[in-house]
This record gives sequence, C-alpha cells and structure tokens, in this order.
Amino acid sequence: MKVPLLDLQAQLAYLEEDLLAAVSRVVKSTRYIQGPEVEGLEQEIAEYCGSKYAVGVTSGTDALLICLMSLGIGPGDRVLTSPFSFFATMGVILRVGATPVFADIDPESFNIDTVKTAELLRADTEKKIKAIIPVHLYGQCAEMAAILELAKEFDVAVIEDAAQAIGAEYPLVIDGKTQYKRAGSMGTAGCFSFFPSKNLGGIGDGGMVVTDDADFAERLVLMRNHGAHPKYYHKLVGGNFRLDPIQAAALRVKLPHLERWHRQRAENAARYNRLFTEAGLLDQGKVLIPASVYLPNAGSEGEKRNLHIYNQYVLRVERRNELRDWLVGNDIGCEIYYPVPLHKQECLGSMASQISCPEAEKAADETIALPIYPELTSEMQEHVVKKIVQFYL
Ligand SMILES: *Cc1c(COP(=O)(O)O)cnc(C)c1O
Repeated sequence: MKVPLLDLQAQLAYLEEDLLAAVSRVVKSTRYIQGPEVEGLEQEIAEYCGSKYAVGVTSGTDALLICLMSLGIGPGDRVLTSPFSFFATMGVILRVGATPVFADIDPESFNIDTVKTAELLRADTEKKIKAIIPVHLYGQCAEMAAILELAKEFDVAVIEDAAQAIGAEYPLVIDGKTQYKRAGSMGTAGCFSFFPSKNLGGIGDGGMVVTDDADFAERLVLMRNHGAHPKYYHKLVGGNFRLDPIQAAALRVKLPHLERWHRQRAENAARYNRLFTEAGLLDQGKVLIPASVYLPNAGSEGEKRNLHIYNQYVLRVERRNELRDWLVGNDIGCEIYYPVPLHKQECLGSMASQISCPEAEKAADETIALPIYPELTSEMQEHVVKKIVQFYL
C-alpha cells in the first residue's frame, strides 16, 4: 500500500469544480490586482482568527518580513526566536539587517522555551532585542501567556509565526476567565502562510498578517504596496507584497472546509496515538509522542478541547534516519521537519559555531513527520503503524 505524506488529489476530488469556478470568476472580472476577492478573504480571515484587521500578502515569508519592516527593525537590532523552525523565521530577521537571538526549545512541545526566553531578555541590558517571533510549530501554539507577559515587561513586539497553525487555539486567562484565542490573534501581529501543504493552502503562494492595531495595519497596507499613499507618493520604502486575487478566490473556496479538516487531522492523530500505544512501542520508549497536547486540555467547564491543528504529526524516535529509509522503501511518505536547526545553518557563517541549543539539535536528529492529511484512511494509518512496528521488532 502506498501512503503519501500529503495527497492534494484527494482534496481536489471534491473541490475541483468550485476551485475552477473561483479562478474563472477572477479571470472574467479582469480585477487582477487587489480587488474584492482579496478584500473578501481578508475580512473572512480576520473574523476566523478573532482579529480586527487582516492584510493579504504574497507569502508567509513576506508576512513575517513586512511585519519586521513595519516595526522599523533593522541593523543593530535583535529579534528573539526559536532555533527549530522553517528557515523563513530566521531569514526575515537577517534580511532586514537584524541579528537573530535563539532561545532553545521545550523538548515536549518543540516550541520556544519561555524560561530561556526570559533569561535572554534579562541579559539584554542594552535593550537590543526589539521583538520576539514565537513559532507555533506543527500546529500547536507556543506558551503565549508567558511570552506576552515577558513582552510587556521588556517592551518588545510579538510577531507570531502562525504559518503552521491557522485556527489553533490557546487558553489565555483574561480578567480571571479562560478565553480561547486563535493563533495569530494574541501578539502585536500574526503571520499565516497559504503554501499548499498548510492546513489552509492555496493553489500557489500566499500569506496574511492579522492584527488588532489599526496603525500597524495601516503601515502593513502601505508596506505591501511600495509604501505609497496616494499612488506615486511614497511615505515608506515598502515593496510589492500583494496577495494574488486568484489565490484569494481559491482560498475562499477552501476556508469553509477548514474546521472539518482540522477535526479530521485531530482524529487521525488520536488514531495514531491509540495504535502506537496498543502496539507497545510507547512503553518500550522506541517511539515517543510529543504531539500530545502539553497545555491543560480542558476548557473552563472541563470540556475537552483539542488546541492542536496537526499541520504535522511528529514523532520522536530511536534510529530516526534508518526508520526514514525504511518508510520510504515501503512507499510511506515521511519528512524531517527540520534536519538542521536554524542556528547551525551554513549561511550564518562563523556565528553558527558560537551558538548552542542542545534541545533543538536533539530534535533535529530524532523527529519524523508521518502522513496526517484529512483524507488519510484508517487502513492507511494501520498500515503505517504496522510497518513502524515491523521496523522496531
Ligand atoms: C511555511 C512556513 C513559513 C513560510 O511560508 P511561505 O508561505 O512558504 O513563505 C514560515 N514559517 C513557518 C514556520 C512555516 O512553516
């Protein structure tokens, strides 16, 4: 049995007609830059996330980039982030001329360790750290309560890298009551990617920034269009970071399916957890499931709430590279997110040898992502687990 890591054909089987109609609508409208599809999606995403404003952009990477540009972060400034993320999280910091500072990850959630974050902020006596970019890795929010508190204490901005976590929820205590806040809606701004492999993926590149700050939203709108207002009068040096209306139209077809897709992914994750437990691999310590929700998994009334949207289902395993080769050899899709932590990337040059984040380095050697997409069948999952059991026996 062949089990791909992601199968967009399975989604196309029920979306094709609607997607083609949406593309055709844009083509026939001749509104090829900005326009009603982009504005419509911005409103829908702002509402979905519980944010006041949403600004469509070219990609998740550019969402992060224009946030840093709009904050005026540049040479001499530092930005604190996680060493265990997709390259874009660090790339944007370097591209504005600032220096990344890495707080190692928590080994269970793979998200930034807030104790280390606090230590780095306290050590920053010259106040060079201007922002924190927490990453909600694999679809689970970082410890936002602690991060927001630190941001307030040290007066730094928080740009959430929610590229993998649209719709994930985090329980924030506001005025003594637990409120579930969606990823991206808690910091100064939140960044999303519509790369096709994300839970809400376009038919090409796309991204979005959400924020509650009207002035910041206005800067973002200027920044994505060469800093111009009105046309040809440039208040800021921005760029062309505009979201394509064809992508916006396709995403508006997909958004109504998103909650169901999250649910199906969570069900698949629960099924894997059960199958691995039944197979005894967990007890033997060969396979660990760190994806178990580390936050209190209960709402204020004690009802169960899964906060994780499972963009990826990631295991920490023994003999990771051998397992990867075995799965690939058995036609089972898998991927390493990510094999080299950011602080060890070659492009950092000599800086790379001076930074140590042992938990991120360990995670890069021990983790593997398995197929988790919504249309994955229980037979496919049983097959995946059977093959992994075979490998460790
Ligand atoms: C996908 C991703 C991005 C970049 O998004 P693009 O749309 O591909 O530019 C940034 N950060 C993280 C954590 C991502 O997973």
